[in-house]
Amino acid sequence: MNMRAAVLRDHSLSMPIECVAVDEPRADEVLVRVVATGICHTDIKVAQVEGLSPRPIVLGHEGAGVVEKVGSAVRKLAPGDHVVLTFDSCGRCPTCSVGKPSYCYEVAAVCFSGKRLDGSTTLVSDGAAVHGNFFGQSSFATHAIANERNAIKVRKDATLELLGPLGCGLQTGAGAVLNSLGVRAGQSIAIFGVGAVGLAAVMAARIAGASKIFAIDVVDERLALARALGATQTINGGKTDALAAILAETGRGVDYALDTAASDKAIEQAIDCVGPLGTCGLIANKSPAQTAPVKILGSMLRGRSIRGIVQGDSVPDLFIPRLVDFFMEGRFPFDRLVKFYPFDDIAHAMRDADSGATIKPILRM
Ligand SMILES: [Zn+2]
Ligand SMILES: [Zn+2]
Repeated sequence: MNMRAAVLRDHSLSMPIECVAVDEPRADEVLVRVVATGICHTDIKVAQVEGLSPRPIVLGHEGAGVVEKVGSAVRKLAPGDHVVLTFDSCGRCPTCSVGKPSYCYEVAAVCFSGKRLDGSTTLVSDGAAVHGNFFGQSSFATHAIANERNAIKVRKDATLELLGPLGCGLQTGAGAVLNSLGVRAGQSIAIFGVGAVGLAAVMAARIAGASKIFAIDVVDERLALARALGATQTINGGKTDALAAILAETGRGVDYALDTAASDKAIEQAIDCVGPLGTCGLIANKSPAQTAPVKILGSMLRGRSIRGIVQGDSVPDLFIPRLVDFFMEGRFPFDRLVKFYPFDDIAHAMRDADSGATIKPILRM
């Protein structure tokens, strides 16, 4: 079947839209008509940095759409179902087996190799193979092949074209707070960086009932939005010493900190602002080689934990429908972060995501 897809052939953010043939779904796969797809910073990073994924490739990993065809072994889904596409995982390794698929041993192969696990590709343009299967979906296209595992059924009364970002960025921020850190009512949290991931964390902290929610960023408009979405204290880290401000307000430091900004300063402050028996979660990085200073004695004396987090420890079949419910109840109003672009304006949308002009761009197919 032929479809339109944005094919990345170099290391720029421009991806010409081409006519591409897409494979039939195999036994454990589904064919999804993509309605809309979010743009996430990983799309930008993979487009710009050499060696993360092969070329040519169709990126996109926050797709939302309607199931058109299902493979013979698919039990979870049927044609007509509304789905959010999320990260893929193998389903068999030790971490998948204990319900932590975002730490799948095969993540490089299933999300970044551009191929199925057996090495086959799903897309062809002008007679030549194009890499697909990015995060098990490659949703910068009018259609996507996904595995049954990473296509998540969602309720039909929710506006489908909004929901794609739940599959990565929003799940990452909200899951870090609700699943990974397990923030509870009355506790405190400092969230460094309030882009899409950080704002999802702010909304989740409010859902959890946190009593003090610090939002730290260098852009005043984003801090104002963070306050509207539930932050109780906002700090412009470019003008104020965030660590001093948090310690002045809490005395012993916060129960939890979460860094989504990846600047050296933000990461150091996120670790240092955590009080006794608290945990600092690290979600973002500038480069694979980035390191951070840890004050050993201060961390020992406080029994402080520091942990890495991917995809908010989500079990997507359970967590994404829960986030949709929160949205429908008005408790997770992520539509306030979103700006829609036509698919043909993908280069513009990618640039706006990269510059920060738009918090969460969504391409409408
Ligand atoms: Zn992502
Ligand atoms: Zn696995």
